[in-house]
Amino acid sequence: MILEKGTLYVVATPIGNLGDMSQRAIEVLQQVDMIAAEDTRRSGRLLQHFDISGRFLALHEHNERQATGRVLDYLQQGKSIALISDAGTPLLSDPGYYLVREAIRAGFRIIPIPGPSAVATALSAAGLPTDRFRFEGFLPAKSTARRNRLMQIKDETATLVFYEAPHRILETLADMQEVFGGEREAILARELTKTFETFLRGNLEAIRQRVETDTDQQKGEMVILLHGAPPPDSSGISAEAERILNILLKELPLKQAAALASEITGVKKNRLYEHALKRN
Ligand code: SAM
Repeated sequence: MILEKGTLYVVATPIGNLGDMSQRAIEVLQQVDMIAAEDTRRSGRLLQHFDISGRFLALHEHNERQATGRVLDYLQQGKSIALISDAGTPLLSDPGYYLVREAIRAGFRIIPIPGPSAVATALSAAGLPTDRFRFEGFLPAKSTARRNRLMQIKDETATLVFYEAPHRILETLADMQEVFGGEREAILARELTKTFETFLRGNLEAIRQRVETDTDQQKGEMVILLHGAPPPDSSGISAEAERILNILLKELPLKQAAALASEITGVKKNRLYEHALKRN
């Protein structure tokens, strides 16, 4: 393989199983002039396994701008550079966006070397619709911000994919259950490609309970996948808006129920009113 000069290679590395390293990734990493890596010691150990003893440059979330300047200088000198992250595909919940953007702006060629990524790996075996999915990466660490984010996406009809850290998994599943309801189909994909790879399948309530009682399920690396919300009916009113309207209608006259449901859901009062009238 002959590398292009003055080119940035964005190279995916394994997410656990070293057998997933591609031949092309090995060749590129053996030949580039410099490897920009998130954690140079950790990547050094990984690459040693493949007999790659490249020159490293640290590029992580705390120095991305400064490191980008250095990478652009090397590219300007006609050198070829590879960008890798600790695991999987760079830029996917990993550093590199700023560098790739700046390198494009400066007119350099970017060549992706595709490979593992936890989002694609989890989706490929979860058994949820994959024709449309929404990758949400990591949710905010604080509960209020996390719930707000979940509220914003609760009517999303595409499959939802989240990354989560083990120490937050229980709180996040509890918040998800509160916002999406315990019945929402969910999958917890853990330790993908590794010895203890596990897929917990069920609904949010069942999975939260299992993770709570079996502490082994709180360990390792994990992806949460949720079925999308049911599509809104032809009136354009989502299942959640309909659910809220129905609850309010049990206690209130139609006009008041529609007004309150409108405040809660953001759907226009008249639409809710007419929708309820049509159904009766
Ligand atoms: N760039 C990586 C990728 O392409 O998937 C993701 C990096 S992100 C900082 C790390 C998160 O990805 C983990 O907290 C976890 O949510 C998910 N992840 C990475 N490897 C995984 C694995 N083997 N099994 C399950 N989830 C994994």
